[in-house]
Amino acid sequence: MVTGGLAKGGLAYADSIGAEIIQVFVSNPRGWALAAGDPGQDRDLRESGMPTFVHAPYLINLGSPSADTLEKSVAAVRHSLRRGADIGALGVVVHTGSAVSQPRDDAFRQVREQLLPLLDEIPADGPDLLLEPMAGQGQVLCATVQDLGPYLGVLDFHPRVGVCLDTCHAFSAGHDLTAPDGVAQTLDALHAIAPGRLKLIHANDSKDPCGSKRDRHENIGAGLIGAQPFAEIMRHPVAAGVPLCIETPGKVDEHRDDITLLKKLRDG
Ligand SMILES: [Zn+2]
Repeated sequence: MVTGGLAKGGLAYADSIGAEIIQVFVSNPRGWALAAGDPGQDRDLRESGMPTFVHAPYLINLGSPSADTLEKSVAAVRHSLRRGADIGALGVVVHTGSAVSQPRDDAFRQVREQLLPLLDEIPADGPDLLLEPMAGQGQVLCATVQDLGPYLGVLDFHPRVGVCLDTCHAFSAGHDLTAPDGVAQTLDALHAIAPGRLKLIHANDSKDPCGSKRDRHENIGAGLIGAQPFAEIMRHPVAAGVPLCIETPGKVDEHRDDITLLKKLRDG
């Protein structure tokens, strides 16, 4: 997390690492407190022209059997969408959640009941809600690209729902991006299930093997995915024009290296 405020700190950090888009948190990513925001910073970010995405807090789980967690999750998604509109964000990324200890049907019913009204509330110029499939641990509701079918189904394929594909999660969930045609198979499957809905890619290498269901990000090219699949992703028509955002370990030097490598893979 950068300091100095959303716009000032975020844009300065983006500049120092050579980023062309930014992803911000609009409240503590590991807490439930909902921050009010600063109108001046919001305006600066909105007027900066920097494509901006919001990542909603990690604690959100719309599939949770806990009424308290569900209530806080709904409030946090609503807050992220409203703050996303304030700063001119293109999308708000939300993890797809887990049924934990309850039947999956019940969890999916909750997702439908709670998310559909929030999606209907999004103003025409507000951000889309971007579903981010998870690495696959426990009773997660969506890990593979194929899992997006039922998830989007309970949301009636709402027009304000997009997809954020995290390469580390996809790899850990079993999409072997290193195999010949692994990238193409994954993106083609995504296109078949959710055409036109891929709005953001979280570009993260993985410390763990394909199918491990573990979620430990690594710097680009330093993990078990390696650099080449990222070049293939950026050349695939399904990902054409879709921005990549790193969520990799380290600080400014490591992040600058990751961005530099991705640009080289894109332009090389
Ligand atoms: Zn991610």
